[in-house]
Amino acid sequence: MSLFDKFATQRALQTALADDGRVASLATPMGVIHSATSATIDGRRMVLAGTNNYLGLTFDDECRAAAIAAIETHGTGTTGSRMASGNYAGHRALEQAMADAFGWPSAIVFSTGYQANLGAISALAGADDFLMVDGDSHASIHDACKLSAATTIRFRHNDPDNLDRRLARLGDDAKRTLVVVESLYSTLGDRAPLRKIVEISKRHGAWLLVDEAHSFGAFGASGMGLCEELGLLDEVDFIVGTFSKSLGGIGGFCVSRHADLELLRLASRPYIFTASPAPAVIAATHQALRRVLSGQDLRERLMGHARRFYAQTAALGYRLGAATPGPVAALVFSQRDTAQALWRGLFDAGVYTNLMVPPATPSGLSLVRISLSAAHSDDELSTIIAALAQWAPNLGVSAAD
Ligand code: PMP
Repeated sequence: MSLFDKFATQRALQTALADDGRVASLATPMGVIHSATSATIDGRRMVLAGTNNYLGLTFDDECRAAAIAAIETHGTGTTGSRMASGNYAGHRALEQAMADAFGWPSAIVFSTGYQANLGAISALAGADDFLMVDGDSHASIHDACKLSAATTIRFRHNDPDNLDRRLARLGDDAKRTLVVVESLYSTLGDRAPLRKIVEISKRHGAWLLVDEAHSFGAFGASGMGLCEELGLLDEVDFIVGTFSKSLGGIGGFCVSRHADLELLRLASRPYIFTASPAPAVIAATHQALRRVLSGQDLRERLMGHARRFYAQTAALGYRLGAATPGPVAALVFSQRDTAQALWRGLFDAGVYTNLMVPPATPSGLSLVRISLSAAHSDDELSTIIAALAQWAPNLGVSAAD
């Protein structure tokens, strides 16, 4: 009897994925990082097409300078929680900037995006409340539901009618319900029907939290995400996001048009019982936020890449996880072996992507997930697409007419 017996599925997967002998495991460590789009992995220089570095800000000169200056003046870490010694002026200033960017009264910074969902959702929904979450939500949302004392109900992915029926069944309790959706889903890159979800939530008197982890920075006139782009900021109650994607750092946030969000500082365990983000991270993130606010140039470049990538890969015969181009592009396969062969082929061709397989994926699909970046040069994008073109015949993928 071993505590590890329960990991039989993971053991089998680990073996299957390591079998070809060329790549030890999926967690191939990055060696030297040269830029937002280039690194040496396994001793070879590769184009990075599997990060979440949508705006390429990890290597932005001003963000790096801000981080270095913060280390010089504030040291390497805070060694404490926001509740205690880890509450620096920089954390407060970033929260104020975040709230101002949304035009809302309150913003709270968490130590990761994962904890932002955990901390906001588990505290907002208490024992007498209800959580109504999209079935394909990110693990941090599902884990938040487990941490919360509320009753959790899942509705079918991107199915507003299903949400409507479930809220109707709750009757007056709908007013004690927090609906949780992502705006741009992290795995397939598909978008929530946000206008309908807002309309339905409001009609039932429910509260709405939108996770903009993959859309913050990439959408909206000032980069605040899809709610901003769709003109829905007056209708949504809470937005959660992360510093670890477009902003190029690590950390997370929850912003709200309700000033009472501030109460969570005294009630949210994932906020209270962990150390606050390091000064360098906060300083770099604050600078990245400034860049995002004036980042229409980056957003145009990113979306130009997205449109080109979606059009050209679809023409090669690949099936994409979303109809509308965006920064996340998932090439979808029904067989794990096919996705794995493509991932390995791209790796050998010098293109780093992400392989995602069940149970981490929706509907049992396997996929090669590619994230586009404003920092990709046109040539790098051509390299990625050329590698996909080279591999298409091996996978039985053929040019669409
Ligand atoms: N929400 C979503 C939708 C995500 O995709 C992620 C990260 N993949 C998170 C939250 C967590 O963010 P972080 O990695 O910054 O903890």
